[in-house]
Amino acid sequence: MKSNETRVDALKRVALETARRLYWCIRRPRFLEVFGPPGSGKGTLCKELAPLLGIAHLSTGDVFRRHIAAQTSVGRLAKSYIDAGQLVPDDVTVALVRQELLRPAYWKGALFDGFPRNLLQAELLDELLAKSGTGIERAIVLDVDEDTLVWRLSNRRTCSNQSCGRTYHLQSKPPQVPGICDVCKSALYQRPDDVPEAISARLSTYRTVSEPVGNFYAGKAVVIKPTRDTTEQEVVSQVTAALSGRRE
Ligand code: AMP
Repeated sequence: MKSNETRVDALKRVALETARRLYWCIRRPRFLEVFGPPGSGKGTLCKELAPLLGIAHLSTGDVFRRHIAAQTSVGRLAKSYIDAGQLVPDDVTVALVRQELLRPAYWKGALFDGFPRNLLQAELLDELLAKSGTGIERAIVLDVDEDTLVWRLSNRRTCSNQSCGRTYHLQSKPPQVPGICDVCKSALYQRPDDVPEAISARLSTYRTVSEPVGNFYAGKAVVIKPTRDTTEQEVVSQVTAALSGRRE
């Protein structure tokens, strides 16, 4: 039993884990991940790609932001790291992913976005999936130059409605009405980690801690190199073509 679990919760978790393991062994779920620096367009790509692949999108950043909005203990702990542009500690992040993967939404598989972000997380994820005879099928690597990343992040505005979460760019993709989401009409905001100090901390963490994860998945990598002018639809087409072995 985990330290913060009641007996009933522990029994429920073990029952769910067993049911999921059996399901995974029979139904062969698909697990893919989108990997790249902050601002490379992982979230936008995943929102389009997950329904095309028929699996659910699992963004650890979004799950943390949901916990922050709900003021849970995980949310309170994660907030200080996220606002400073630092990674949330591995034990918290991996426990969060384990918990998420118990949800039936992920039983057919998942498109990971922002996880794993360091080698330890990559190894723990491999271990977790291998226990059920499965593993990461492909890692889609978004390789974007640093000037473009800074330009994208500092101009990014995000829909405050968590279930929408669409993003805009003040120059290249502004909303029709300033400050309002075109789709759900909620207010847009600038993420606290999209300000200059946090952006440079995030990019430096990516270079030192996350980039080696790309090598971990080298044999499974599909590398896409979007520029400032590449449209979201072009990225989706390049990825789907690469996954199905076509040439674009
Ligand atoms: P994202 O929305 O993917 O840019 O994530 C926002 C922030 O959430 C990151 O800058 C980290 O602070 C935290 N975060 C998201 N995923 C992870 C992860 N796999 N490991 C540690 N921290 C994470």
